[in-house]
Amino acid sequence: MNKIWQFASYNLLALFSPAVGQEHWHCDMKRGFTKARKKELQVKALLEQDTPWQKIGLLAQKGVYEFHRDTQLLDSSDGIERVAEIIQLNQESIEVQNRVTHSLENYRKSPILVGKNIIKLSRGDEGFPEPILIQHGNYLFNFYAAIDCIFLEPDGRLHILDLKTGKSEFDRRQGFIYLLAARYLYPQQLAIASFYNLETCHWSDPITATSVQLDAMRMELARISQQHQRDLWRYRQNPADFATIFPPNPGPSCQYCQFNSICQFSTFEVSA
Ligand code: SF4
Repeated sequence: MNKIWQFASYNLLALFSPAVGQEHWHCDMKRGFTKARKKELQVKALLEQDTPWQKIGLLAQKGVYEFHRDTQLLDSSDGIERVAEIIQLNQESIEVQNRVTHSLENYRKSPILVGKNIIKLSRGDEGFPEPILIQHGNYLFNFYAAIDCIFLEPDGRLHILDLKTGKSEFDRRQGFIYLLAARYLYPQQLAIASFYNLETCHWSDPITATSVQLDAMRMELARISQQHQRDLWRYRQNPADFATIFPPNPGPSCQYCQFNSICQFSTFEVSA
């Protein structure tokens, strides 16, 4: 069978269209850098560097994983220091250290997964999950959904939990993406999804989806996957059209954009 290059994921969806309330941060050119120009040396180097907020999310999740790999760490007086050592937190910036330590302290005070029937808990750095092959009409694409945690509710439903850090609002579409993945991976079981922020300790209401809603999400993923392939093709045909195919949206988001040092449209001055 030929390799399937077409794909879709929450990451692609978020690069395509912003979550509600995030419109002012959205810039399609980031999708261009991330997907169309990812092999260029400068872009590749930037993509390989995790941003501070990516590091905070990853290390906080690793911390939760370590707490559950050895649950004695949750009760031990030096549990946080030991987890910090395992995840090599001292190699990070002070901001990252402080925020991850705060997340670990929060988690030790309120270890929400203790007593749960955990089916899967990811460390967060496992790389790409196995793709789910989806056929939508004649269009075939790989669907990727990296799931942080799945546990079983007492009533037998699967609960897909996404661990968050930072201030951004939960994106309901991501919950639907997880539920769509669950429909393929665990077709016999009902599932719900939720988000838990390790920094604020806020747990979202559970998200459920009807079959019609999941079909709509599958259709949307097929649509953006096709559109994305068309955009990549157009870019390969004519790289000079980069800014037309992936229009920039210069503004406040440039300050936090990982491409601001190489983007000619950036409004943020990067110090040398
Ligand atoms: S620096 Fe600004 S305009 Fe350029 S890609 Fe980033 S957000 Fe878009």
